Amino acid sequence: MKTSFLLLFSTALLIGSSVSSCTFTKDKTPASEQTGPEYTSAYVCPMHCEGSGSDEPGTCPVCNMDYVLNENKQ
Ligand SMILES: [Zn+2]
Repeated sequence: MKTSFLLLFSTALLIGSSVSSCTFTKDKTPASEQTGPEYTSAYVCPMHCEGSGSDEPGTCPVCNMDYVLNENKQ
């Protein structure tokens, strides 16, 4: 009886630790990879959606947010 409780407890710990490690491995795009038109265009979507970005003001075709002037553009 006591053994099965310990087994259950350790299993719960194992599940808990694997869940938390999963959230830590959630990948974020590194700054060095922000090279697409959604980052380099004169006007970019605030969310940097894939396929967004334009040389003229407008709205993002993906999320419909207004483009913002890209201050990082050289
Ligand atoms: Zn967008």
